[in-house]
Amino acid sequence: MRATNLYAPTLRQTPADAEILSHQLMLRAGMMRKSANGMYHFLPLGWRTIRKIEQIIREEMDAAGGQEICMPILQPAEYWEESGRWAAYGAEMMRMKDRHGHEYCLGPTHEEMITALVRDEVRSYKQLPLMLYQIQDKFRDERRPRFGLMRSREFIMKDLYSFDKDVEGMNLSYQKMYDAYDAIFTRCGLEFRPVEADNGAIGGAHSHEFTVLTDAGESSIACCTECDYAASDEKAELAPLEAPEEDMQALEKVATPGTNTIDSLVEFLGVPIEKTIKAVAYETESNELVLVFVRGDHDVNEVKVLHQLEGALELRMADEESIRSAGGCPGFMSPIGIKAGTRILVDATVMKMRNAVSGANEVDFHYKNVNPERDFKEVRVADLRLVKDGDPCPRCGAPMKMTRGIEAGQVFTLGTKYSAAMGATFLDEQGKEKPLVMGCYGIGVGRTMAAAIEQHHDENGIIWPPSIAPFEVVVVPIQAKNPEQLRYAETVYEELKTSGVDALLDDRTERAGVKFKDCDLIGYPVRITIGPKTLEEGDIEVKVRKSGEVFHDTKENYLAHVKELLGSL
Ligand code: ATP
Ligand code: MG
Repeated sequence: MRATNLYAPTLRQTPADAEILSHQLMLRAGMMRKSANGMYHFLPLGWRTIRKIEQIIREEMDAAGGQEICMPILQPAEYWEESGRWAAYGAEMMRMKDRHGHEYCLGPTHEEMITALVRDEVRSYKQLPLMLYQIQDKFRDERRPRFGLMRSREFIMKDLYSFDKDVEGMNLSYQKMYDAYDAIFTRCGLEFRPVEADNGAIGGAHSHEFTVLTDAGESSIACCTECDYAASDEKAELAPLEAPEEDMQALEKVATPGTNTIDSLVEFLGVPIEKTIKAVAYETESNELVLVFVRGDHDVNEVKVLHQLEGALELRMADEESIRSAGGCPGFMSPIGIKAGTRILVDATVMKMRNAVSGANEVDFHYKNVNPERDFKEVRVADLRLVKDGDPCPRCGAPMKMTRGIEAGQVFTLGTKYSAAMGATFLDEQGKEKPLVMGCYGIGVGRTMAAAIEQHHDENGIIWPPSIAPFEVVVVPIQAKNPEQLRYAETVYEELKTSGVDALLDDRTERAGVKFKDCDLIGYPVRITIGPKTLEEGDIEVKVRKSGEVFHDTKENYLAHVKELLGSL
């Protein structure tokens, strides 16, 4: 490709509405443009990177036994009604009606579609295992589309679905995908970590998120500082923390005027925050009140709370009226004295506390010497708190560290959730009818591209890992108007192409400084400069974008050197 034929409109200024670096750099490098809120055009350079990431994904999916298919994006509501998700999916689903009034959605994911496809075709255990995937646009009406490709409303996803005859087979398919993901993100040149994750609304037993480590990420993950345990903050399991042994004192109600926050309570009573109990009051979508108690210095993990509430999908803050009607007092809550039948969840660490302080369900009053084990009746105890820096690893007990990252992919076991609901069965070796055992595995292609830029850039622009760079090498004649220089550059460019290097010839007649700036901004891994010194002395300048190193090669050795550099970056 010649730059004079390339549509790559670079920008000198940072567009005002681009919030994060990857988005700014992709716009400035002429790789993408915004169409509407959460929707983007890919321009040629951006699309080349997308296609390279897709190709890596394809190769690894195929190597793991996957077969590529393509399903319709438009999905009939009936399938989603069969699985029960038409109602459950919520506002993120883009719904529409056709001219006959039939309901559809633009696929946010394809479990229902593929289960419907496979149930009509797969009849026997002999057809299993089966892994089918596609790479295609998905639609989600995100509450807050932002950060460019990171969280958009239309985005490209690779989604693979596995079908097995039993749980053992499913776990094997899961492991194959896990290994394939490891290979994909490694080949994309990313620093990442597979982290244990919550399955969320999709259901199933276990899951990992493949998280690209960068401060710009929206995911918060807990990583053990000793072993390889890593989990998303939603998932991280926490064993109850022990409190120092103390004799239980008699419960005492004390006046604590104006102390409706933990901070003010700690200050007023002069007790350590670890001795206080804090309450958060929620309501589910079916208006059930749920009171959650954690230690004063801990936070509630709403995902863990939801797991304790069979069938509940969402939590919102409870209003004061419903708290009062259950016998509670906002700002001064305690499980002691709440109306029987109210849902009370207590974090396991709270149950270990001795002579603690909690509200007294009365304005301006608290209880001292609360001993949950003795005083809390009819409460449900569970791990409910959010992990924080320094919490002990559930595997080895060493302190964990909170790190930020971008979830680029996720793998799930699904079991028979969809096959059982939708009647996708097969006949096993004994001729017995059984539901297929499934797994599903997604990668955000655009999000992976954005994550790569968040991890690989400097003040001058992007620094692409060669495997996903729009071009691996750019050949720049300093004066493209000079026919001899241009001809020399063309031979180098041709030679690179012939030997399999993905090269661009920057044959524009711009000033060299302008071209160099663009090269740095777009982030080609290697730049070859052809100038007067090349013609006079045979010197070929090779510059590495990542390190800034400059080499002076000859016509004889530059090609081998460039290949060696590309392999090592
Ligand atoms: P998130 O928690 O970030 O909303 P998710 O867990 O809902 O993502 P999955 O259903 O696991 O997403 O989808 C598989 C992959 O698709 C994700 O790992 C991510 O890379 C990508 N993805 C999901 N939502 C978006 C989006 N709105 N924009 C871009 N990529 C997305
Ligand atoms: Mg996910």
